[in-house]
Amino acid sequence: MKKLDQLYEGKAKKVFATDHQDLLIVDYKDDATAFNGEKKGTILGKGVINNRMSNMLMQLLEKQGIPTHYVEELSERETVVKKVAIVPLEVIIRNIAAGSFSKRFGVQEGTKLKQPSLEYSYKNDDLGDPLINDHHILALGLATKEELDTIAGYAFRINEILKAYFLKLDIELVDFKLEFGKTSDGTIVLADEISPDTCRFWDVHTHEKLDKDRFRRNMGGEEEAYKEVMRRLLGE
Ligand code: ADP
Ligand code: UDP
Repeated sequence: MKKLDQLYEGKAKKVFATDHQDLLIVDYKDDATAFNGEKKGTILGKGVINNRMSNMLMQLLEKQGIPTHYVEELSERETVVKKVAIVPLEVIIRNIAAGSFSKRFGVQEGTKLKQPSLEYSYKNDDLGDPLINDHHILALGLATKEELDTIAGYAFRINEILKAYFLKLDIELVDFKLEFGKTSDGTIVLADEISPDTCRFWDVHTHEKLDKDRFRRNMGGEEEAYKEVMRRLLGE
């Protein structure tokens, strides 16, 4: 596999073309941003952890019948993935109220929801990723009804799989963001990453935050938190 031109540099990853037209290489950085890029920083070692963790979780999901973009881990920070056309939606699943949900609906952080919830944001940095509903998505042609049904179905199944998996590690899966894409033959697959950048993880007993909220909220200890989740995943 040859790494060719850089196609894109995002906030957390770089994306490269390869000598295979259906494959890309993603390269995970230590850069951290929050509030649509307003707050910038570095979480040392984050790229290595997010690469490894996302790949482990994608392989777990594949085994449970969820198609993903994962192909092969190349190095500490680099992974080969299937090239997809990203559906420009952030798919957010929540089990416990936190963050923007708590603010929007006036629900105290930590309140357990009666059932998992799903919401979409339109992936558009210039607009600040606004909340968007199914009707808007269809009206704008961002996805078809069938694609949206597939995406929502996968998202709730992923939640059940990951919630159970993390609970065994004494971690509560509070909420998380997913991105899906379409491969060249039109198949919807899970893309991007699953990591402490994109999930809220709380220790079951102490409710200690083990995710990017430590960075967003200037709490400190983000390196240790990311390491702690990885340590538990590796069974150390
Ligand atoms: P951002 O674009 O939000 O700054 P990243 O730094 O994580 O985010 O950049 C990675 C980019 O690659 C994102 O825009 C993401 O949607 C995109 N991406 C993730 N997986 C794939 C894939 N399999 N094929 C094509 N693009 C992908
Ligand atoms: N999230 C993400 N990228 C985003 C926005 C949110 O990965 O651009 C994740 C975030 O880590 C959390 C979940 O989605 O696990 C819900 O985030 P929320 O809507 O509460 O937004 P925030 O409080 O982070 O602004």
